[in-house]
Amino acid sequence: MATTQEPTTGAGDASDDDAQERRTAPARTEAQLAAIYQELILDHYRRPRNKGALDGADASVERRNPLCGDEIGLQLALDGDVVRDVRFTGRGCSISQASASMLTQALRGRTRAEAEALLARFTRLVHGDAEAARDASLGELRALQGVARFPARIRCATLAWSALEEALRATA
Ligand code: ZN
Repeated sequence: MATTQEPTTGAGDASDDDAQERRTAPARTEAQLAAIYQELILDHYRRPRNKGALDGADASVERRNPLCGDEIGLQLALDGDVVRDVRFTGRGCSISQASASMLTQALRGRTRAEAEALLARFTRLVHGDAEAARDASLGELRALQGVARFPARIRCATLAWSALEEALRATA
């Protein structure tokens, strides 16, 4: 902490510190949560789950986000009404790749209806819906809720989901 100390006058410091304390007390948990979420995103970015082409896919959809340079290829394999397997290829920013990685984990074994419901909930989450942010059924996907504050990044987070939407439609 000493490294942040600035050689200033000191006038008014006490009252500033008190105000600071009151402001940051509840916000600290939020900051810790943000750090955990950031770590989760980086973990999926560095060690992507279910990445690689899927042989025998029922649908394969490519998506690009030119604003950020993100590319996602999503392959979906269904067994009747159930997502048997889903994998992705691509490159881009940590948000886009982590979102795709989390998508594949969240979707395996789900029914088509569950996948569509998850897609709808996730879309609400990244657009800042408070109820979705509290929805425990979203699991690790909640780590991406922070993009709601950065509209330019929402497309990064939804790229893989947009591909999923088309893949589900193509196999309907
Ligand atoms: Zn991006």
